[in-house]
Amino acid sequence: MNAPYMGKFSVSQTYQGAKHDGLDLVGIDSKEIHSTVNGKVVFAGWENEKDPKQGFGKYVKIMKDGTDEGYYFGHLSEIKVGVGDHVKMTQVIGIQGSTGKSTGPHCHYCVRVNGKYQDVSKISGIPNKPGVYDDGYRGPVASGPTPEPKPEFTVGKVYETKVDLNVRTGPGTEYPVKKRTELTSDGQKHAYTQEAAVLKPGTEVRCIELVEKGDRIWIRIPSGWICSREKDTKYIA
Ligand SMILES: [Zn+2]
Repeated sequence: MNAPYMGKFSVSQTYQGAKHDGLDLVGIDSKEIHSTVNGKVVFAGWENEKDPKQGFGKYVKIMKDGTDEGYYFGHLSEIKVGVGDHVKMTQVIGIQGSTGKSTGPHCHYCVRVNGKYQDVSKISGIPNKPGVYDDGYRGPVASGPTPEPKPEFTVGKVYETKVDLNVRTGPGTEYPVKKRTELTSDGQKHAYTQEAAVLKPGTEVRCIELVEKGDRIWIRIPSGWICSREKDTKYIA
């Protein structure tokens, strides 16, 4: 089910084709009207400003992306979007009201294709039966200052290698592994006595620079570049 309300709402009048071409919905937990589609606002305002009791009153029409379907949200008290806006599903587009031909606060929710009404109950999954419903939508997560993610590795800090690590000329597997003789003298002390520069586990390394590339984090140490993490596996700590 995909309703224009957050939390509980009721169906106060069913869809009956030509007789009533939409669902009348009343917000219980919230009066905010949310877009039910991703689309473009093609109308936002009074159906007839001179007669605020006419038709949909204040309403919003959104054309669903890539379709001929126009989604109408009628009888609003407030409109929060403008013509030309591209809205995302769940975005607040207005506040429930009783403008237009309405006897009490509700939202006339309907879908038309080239002016022809569609079965909005089928499209939305909202039951075509008076009652209280809930589509599970609880609104966006309260926004507030999000804590800065703690960096995994810090420039300037000393770490210990946990596995055999190739020392490369740059941050990536596309860079060749250095020769042992190209390491710093301290690096050579902690490398295997083979031609390629491979540091033994337990080597202390100072992080000079960090580069994140795909699944890997590379750090520069005085001797060159080593991989410090691959996916969930940390190679230094
Ligand atoms: Zn209605």
